[in-house]
Amino acid sequence: MLRRGVAEKTVALTRARVASRSFLATASKIRLENARSYSRKTTIPDVAGASFNICSQQNRRPRMVFFSQQRRFASTFKEEYEKHVAERAAQGIVPKPLSPKQCSDLVELLKNPPKGEEEYLLNLLKTRVPPGVDEAAYVKASFLTSIVKGSVSSPLINKAQAIEILGTMQGGYNVETLISALDDAQLAPVASKALKKTLLLFDAFYDVEAKAKAGNSFAKEIIQSWADAEWFLSKPEVPKKITTTVFFVKGETNTDDLSPAPDAWSRPDIPLHGLAMLKNAREGIIPDKDGEIGPMKQIEELKKKGHPLAYVGDVVGTGSSRKSATNSVLWFMGEEIPFVPNKKSGGVCIGGKIAPIFFNTMEDAGALPIEMDVTKMNMGDVIDIYPYEGVVKNNATGEVLSEFKLKTEVLLDEVRAGGRIPLIIGRGLTSKARKSLNLEPSKVFRLPTGASEKKPAGYTLAQKIVGKACGVEGVSPGTYCEPAMTTVGSQDTTGPMTRDELKDLACLGFSADLVMQSFCHTAAYPKPVDVVTHHTLPDFIRTRGGVSLRPGDGIIHSWLNRMLLPDTVGTGGDSHTRFPIGISFPAGSGLVAFAAATGVMPLDMPESVLVRFKGKKQPGVTIRDLVHAIPYQAIQDGLLTVEKKGKKNIFSGRILEIEGLHNMTVEEAFEISDASAERSAAGCTIQVDKDKIIEYLNSNITMLKWMISEGYGDARAMERRIASMEEWLKNPVLLKADPKAEYAATIEIDLDKIKEPILCAPNDPDDARLLSQVQGDKIDEVFIGSCMTNVGHFRAAGKLLREFTGQIPTRLWIAPPTKMDAGVLTEEGYYSIFGRVGARIEMPGCSLCMGNQARVGDSTTVVSTSTRNFPNRLGKGANVYLASAELAAVASILGRLPTPAEYLEYAAKINSTAADTYRYMNFDKMESYVKSAAKVEISAEAREAAKKHFSK
Ligand code: SF4
Repeated sequence: MLRRGVAEKTVALTRARVASRSFLATASKIRLENARSYSRKTTIPDVAGASFNICSQQNRRPRMVFFSQQRRFASTFKEEYEKHVAERAAQGIVPKPLSPKQCSDLVELLKNPPKGEEEYLLNLLKTRVPPGVDEAAYVKASFLTSIVKGSVSSPLINKAQAIEILGTMQGGYNVETLISALDDAQLAPVASKALKKTLLLFDAFYDVEAKAKAGNSFAKEIIQSWADAEWFLSKPEVPKKITTTVFFVKGETNTDDLSPAPDAWSRPDIPLHGLAMLKNAREGIIPDKDGEIGPMKQIEELKKKGHPLAYVGDVVGTGSSRKSATNSVLWFMGEEIPFVPNKKSGGVCIGGKIAPIFFNTMEDAGALPIEMDVTKMNMGDVIDIYPYEGVVKNNATGEVLSEFKLKTEVLLDEVRAGGRIPLIIGRGLTSKARKSLNLEPSKVFRLPTGASEKKPAGYTLAQKIVGKACGVEGVSPGTYCEPAMTTVGSQDTTGPMTRDELKDLACLGFSADLVMQSFCHTAAYPKPVDVVTHHTLPDFIRTRGGVSLRPGDGIIHSWLNRMLLPDTVGTGGDSHTRFPIGISFPAGSGLVAFAAATGVMPLDMPESVLVRFKGKKQPGVTIRDLVHAIPYQAIQDGLLTVEKKGKKNIFSGRILEIEGLHNMTVEEAFEISDASAERSAAGCTIQVDKDKIIEYLNSNITMLKWMISEGYGDARAMERRIASMEEWLKNPVLLKADPKAEYAATIEIDLDKIKEPILCAPNDPDDARLLSQVQGDKIDEVFIGSCMTNVGHFRAAGKLLREFTGQIPTRLWIAPPTKMDAGVLTEEGYYSIFGRVGARIEMPGCSLCMGNQARVGDSTTVVSTSTRNFPNRLGKGANVYLASAELAAVASILGRLPTPAEYLEYAAKINSTAADTYRYMNFDKMESYVKSAAKVEISAEAREAAKKHFSK
């Protein structure tokens, strides 16, 4: 078993690194004299006589603002809060957690509580403030710390009670006060009890260890408790029998059904967002208000049977990597977390098939996901699940309804620990404590099984890349490992949740080498809540050492790909984070936050499926057609079915490994790897020729330098990446699959035999068909955009449209992936062509692809270059074909799908100027970028670090 040791990596929230970025460092500039940066210790300021509020509007920087007349706020606190409670109750939801301002007002009231409101106010402080490093948590921890220090008092909270409440805050701002209290004979027993169950300590562990070594008996007890895994053993085991009521959703539930894109703005507000779960009527599901509010009454009715609900479906969780989707399910079917407002964990999810990312996200949240045959289960059935025996019975009759095998026994530990992430962090803490006491590794936890003992005859490319990230030659399928995360991406609809998860993890500095945040999903038509995100999230990312893009810059992947290092591993909170070089394992926001914070990610190494192309690409056939050739061939080979019931999908949860395509640029490689998301693959590797990677990296170095010159931050993260790229280029060696590598299946695709375009028919990205099978269908709207496109696609479309006089018969949407593409297309005159034919030109970004902003008309038929065509994604009731930009352009001109012969005639025109059309943006050959880049110096420190890394 490979473990890089999260315990060690988490320590990488190092003092020096965090110190320069920390929120508290900002606070210290404005007179919080006692504030020290949260690194090794989080010193909470003494707030005697003054409370404060946190304002994030001014200068877009979190700032501490003292309110000399705080009572003015406090006096209206209860009235305003109760108004909010009533408004939320009218919507059928619980109030929001307290904001920093509300918490500050509450603190004032607690110092001198109005008669009769004591319990009410105290309960709010205890239960309605988010834990971790949320700003409100900071206010709460500061107040309690001041009580402990004796500089502030409350008739409701004595020193021991303050320690007790601090002990429920999980980590972050509460930690130092708890550790300091170990030196106080009165408070030490309470602090010790709390610390024994606190996991988010990071390098504060060493402070407790130092006290233990210096003879502090309470610290000794704590270390022993961690070594004995008391934090884990004190929690109840998963019961032998779980009785639940089935909430059955027929067919496929994709994450858009659970967390609809148009409601993305409300995702961080879990109870509010939950109202949109399954809001569109479908067989067996009765929304309270079709298209607006999901089946809340139906859920309440089922709960009256007296059991928690289990989410059950034929296929569950396909599509985007949305933590919000699991949040919504758990909000109705999970359990409360003590002292954590508006979040739940636990619950049971059963699927004939559960999409891998959704499965992992459920694990992270402490739910029990189980794959099994669900054909004997119906809505409202009460069932008994026997997790240790692998049987499900009808509660009333005892009839066996299904049998199953847990994916791994470790799931039982994950549920007990409250989730996979707490389990990993807790195991790390236990192992550190045992090391400190010179004890053998703990035997308390179940170990992952499944890896073959013997070394395989050869490793695949993915197995080698992950091996490299774990410091070994290769990693066999089934092996649990924790590869280093070199690059982590976050986009704007999952970003706010990732931010919340980072706060919960008490993270104030990233350990992953490069973390990048984009604003591609919400920039074009932002809601007020998106505007707040645009203003606040960049600073949150940069102050932790990450790189933040700006609204209007464009799509996450089109930028992140340009920051990649060959043969490295990463992740992203967007299911299309599918690196064209190296490998990415996209994940839900909880795991992405974990990867960014700790620099590693837990991974059960999946098996691989090889797709080998051979032969020569035929005229008119595009890379997008090859993307669709993969499901098309898999269907022919009997490895994939379109039907959901009993669905077969050889790619699901495996790594798609592609080889045999030569002379392909990295941009083209991404078009292919990107679509591995539609295959429900866990990840994707693609063999790209070395000269193309060298060309790409040289271009990207210039782009990154240009970014620094344009004031993007964090500049140090970009400098580190530039230095690493330059170091790799000095000795450009690429990993390769061994000839004897083993795959779960091999699919061969003969390019000589693909002579016409392949599309995906409405509304399923698996339903790949030849153009001749769908030709002639009338088309109303056409979308050319998304991360599947690059500048070449827009030139190709522009060249076809240039020949056309008048206005096209369709509504054509044009959305370039980045502002750089938009700049080139404008300079070259393509924007004027698009404008002349009546196209609607959108801001660079995701545009129609996610369907959360502008939408196609209801029930229209559409040709789209976007990634997926799930029902209602692009527009309500829309029928969406997925196709190449070239075919989409032809359809926009004809108003119908052409015949193959018609298409090939158009394609021949593009082909005649292919070298000009498919010219990619090589920034090192673009004068304005080169000029700006020339001004940027890379620090000696960054160069030295890169040299060291590559010399290992
Ligand atoms: S373009 Fe579409 S698939 Fe790509 S990142 Fe945006 S929403 Fe996701």
